[in-house]
Amino acid sequence: MESTKRYCPYCGASLGTKVEEGRQRLYCNDEERFVYENPIPASTGLLLDEQGRILLVLRNREPGLNKWALPGGFVENGESPVDAARRELEEEAGVKVSEPSLIDIIYQESEFYKTSLLIIGYHFTRFEGEIRAGDDAEEVQFFDRRRLPDLAFDSHRTLIDTYFEKTE
Ligand SMILES: [Zn+2]
Repeated sequence: MESTKRYCPYCGASLGTKVEEGRQRLYCNDEERFVYENPIPASTGLLLDEQGRILLVLRNREPGLNKWALPGGFVENGESPVDAARRELEEEAGVKVSEPSLIDIIYQESEFYKTSLLIIGYHFTRFEGEIRAGDDAEEVQFFDRRRLPDLAFDSHRTLIDTYFEKTE
């Protein structure tokens, strides 16, 4: 995906490009070093209620404004991907979750963020607390799997499908 970086993040010089290992990469001529770009990891959590319905949040910001999605967000420095998923479920839906298992990791290019992403999906078997909408969420609700609304992100649909393929 085309980079939007114009300046070296280390010294502020204008960036050029240079071919390394057959790939055109960003290069800082002042420091004679490559500037590597990597996908940004984001974690998301799948939670089911006793009837097997899926917890979704109605997003109140872009990307995906006014669309339903799994709770989730970017992994921050100093936290593991699973801890990021736990934190997001607590912040957005008000629940404390436990017993995680990894569903899959999905690579995706984001026009909104102008970078590639790694969407890391976890299923949590247990949760405590009553669901309530928090940060980034207008509403939270459990949905029957056969009557899901349009989702904000294809990756979330894929994670849901992958989870049920593995468990059924
Ligand atoms: Zn530099």
